Amino acid sequence: MKYIFVTGGVISGLGKGTTAAALGRLLVARGFRVTAIKIDPYLNIDAGTMNPFEHGEVFVMDDGGEVDLDLGTYERFLDVNLSKDHNITTGKIYLSVINKERDGVYLGKTVQIIPHITNEIKRRIAAAAESSGAEIALIELGGTVGDIESMPFLEAVRQMSMEMGGRNGHREFLFIHTTLIPEVGSVGEQKTKPTQHSVRELRAIGIDPDLIIARAERDIEPDIKKKISLFCNVPVEAVISAPNLPSIYGLPMWLEEQHVAEYVLRKLGLAGGVPELSQWKEFYLKLEHPRYFVDVAIVGKYTELADAYISHIEAFHHVGAATECKVNTRFIESEDLEKKGAEKLLSGSDAILVPGGFGSRGIEGKISAAGYARSSNKPFLGICLGFQCAVIEYARSVLGWDKANSTEFNPDSPHPVIDLLPEQREVSEKGGTMRLGAHKVVLEPESLAAKLYSSTTIYERHRHRFEINPELISDLTSRDLRFTGKSEDSRRMEVAELRSNDYFVGSQFHPEFKSRPGRPSPLHMGLITAALKQKYGTT
Ligand code: GLN
Repeated sequence: MKYIFVTGGVISGLGKGTTAAALGRLLVARGFRVTAIKIDPYLNIDAGTMNPFEHGEVFVMDDGGEVDLDLGTYERFLDVNLSKDHNITTGKIYLSVINKERDGVYLGKTVQIIPHITNEIKRRIAAAAESSGAEIALIELGGTVGDIESMPFLEAVRQMSMEMGGRNGHREFLFIHTTLIPEVGSVGEQKTKPTQHSVRELRAIGIDPDLIIARAERDIEPDIKKKISLFCNVPVEAVISAPNLPSIYGLPMWLEEQHVAEYVLRKLGLAGGVPELSQWKEFYLKLEHPRYFVDVAIVGKYTELADAYISHIEAFHHVGAATECKVNTRFIESEDLEKKGAEKLLSGSDAILVPGGFGSRGIEGKISAAGYARSSNKPFLGICLGFQCAVIEYARSVLGWDKANSTEFNPDSPHPVIDLLPEQREVSEKGGTMRLGAHKVVLEPESLAAKLYSSTTIYERHRHRFEINPELISDLTSRDLRFTGKSEDSRRMEVAELRSNDYFVGSQFHPEFKSRPGRPSPLHMGLITAALKQKYGTT
């Protein structure tokens, strides 16, 4: 196992994860098995309890892990399915060390950051990397070098790299430092000083970066590369320019031109051939040269932060490349919809997505978005909470149950069409207790969903506490609404379709999490295909 450790300097939010993932793609393209681990130095055990406003979307894995959204980027770029132990947090580390202390594992010793916390960090990194069966592990440390929270992690990997040493002049452990090169003044002079400082900080901890990835507005000028090389003690060829690009999917090709993967492999003593990037390039070219244009309104309550819906946005990129269509995503704050009305804000869009969510704020706006889509035959996709909202709206408007609701929002509704999952009734702890992860869904053979998936058995990822109330299913399906996807025991309703509309589909699961370049989420694909058909008459 070879390790590539990625740190960040100067500021957070530099796109370290995307850069590391793009490097990972270049290694995968050369036939290596690559895995990724994200370290988040916060005290939360996982991202599940965090507001998407703080850190963006909570990504859900096959095994039910609720993790940082960077893991989604790694899954999409490396085309792997990771597990929850690939997201290491300070919370997880401390919890296990404290539990071990209570169990008497430390045999009377004083339990300390060094060596007990650092040993636990090392153990977890090695365990996650090795259990994946990969040859190369990318490990990204969240935050910025110099943060108090990051210190134990940096110390642990410093020890790890020292202990692993190297063989025949080659390294087992590489350090990549991603920094910001700001531009100042009217001529936009690129400044290296912040990078020099952050590399100095890293070296004070005992880590010498092998490669510097310089993020900037524009390509890094040759003189600036030389300057970084000189001050940061790396060869010029190890200073990589990573400017803002129109699409992150272009980053692997951009890095390949600078021979990053070759440099990394040479240092690690691995032989890599010519990369096989043709499919990725084709995907990227299709994405960049669309023939059609579709505008999708995403109705949610975290619309101030696009990262809160990142897997949907990426799923639409994947669909866009497959349909030669630029899918423009437009965020609509659901509370605005309540004030201004659905038609006013949504009639300009070609399709509507109501994604997942929690809590009652903005809920009536989401319900009205579903109602507007249903009555105007605008292609509609409701995911999780969006699916539940569509069923509430249908019950109110079509069945005449005007107080229909979810017990999440009105526990006293006379028509609780959405109700708590029975196994959730005794649950009071919040962390990791929802119905989570990949579960089997059986689709009706004649359904639109089965057609879109080209299968009647699928596995999709879940994250919910509420479901369609089993007692009201026969009433809900007395008209044209159908539940065409169910859990294996037929108890849980997983997909709803309104066949009288061109495309009106809802799913309790989240297909956006498994969407990949070249394999777009079938339900997002269905939405855009329907919008294209209405707009351009394409089939
Ligand atoms: N709040 C709803 C539930 O718990 C929907 C969850 C979601 O959209 N992820 O069932």
